[in-house]
Amino acid sequence: YFISFEGIDGSGKSTQARLLAEHLRGTGRDVVLTREPGGSPGAEDIRALVLEGATDRWSPETELLLFTAARRDHLERTIEPALAAGQVVITDRFADSTRLYQGLARADLRAVVDQLHELMIGREPDLTVLIDMDPGTGLARALGRGEGEERFESFGDAMQQKVRQGFLDLSREFAERFVTVDGNREIDAVAADIRDIVESWLP
Ligand code: C5P
Repeated sequence: YFISFEGIDGSGKSTQARLLAEHLRGTGRDVVLTREPGGSPGAEDIRALVLEGATDRWSPETELLLFTAARRDHLERTIEPALAAGQVVITDRFADSTRLYQGLARADLRAVVDQLHELMIGREPDLTVLIDMDPGTGLARALGRGEGEERFESFGDAMQQKVRQGFLDLSREFAERFVTVDGNREIDAVAADIRDIVESWLP
């Protein structure tokens, strides 16, 4: 089973992905917890290239190619072998992030994103947990822990709002695999909801 977590920066995706992985391991499941950009040695190298440089180091098209290359490596080296071995794969972000960040936020490239996805990735998660939350709170949380500041600086409130709306739109476009959870609550309450959803979804 292939489960992705999506949401705006600071929505608590990483924490919730980890809590779900710990919970499922506690019930005896074999779980691989991974993330994007990254999740395999090669893809982590690309992550450093993309996130550590200045925001305008790459054109939007080149950035899209780098994210797609990273995802392809992640898929080949980490995700597909784990799924083939019968493990549950939980990833912190997958292709939906690219549909929004590279396809909508930075440039209007959604059609190219879709073409590259079909050519080079061709796989969607079985279940996508969208943690929806107020963009102002998300941005404050993300900045509070001092992460990715260079990128966030060029990423104001309007952009956070646009990405949040974009995720909600994706949850309708891919309604068959999306579940949306209200992230404006205590970590434990959000985690309990996600556990219930995933437990009833898993065979
Ligand atoms: O999820 P995480 O905090 O690791 O993401 C790191 C940064 O990369 C965030 O600022 C996120 O907005 C950005 N990102 C992106 N395009 C993606 C995935 C993440 O710009 N496809």
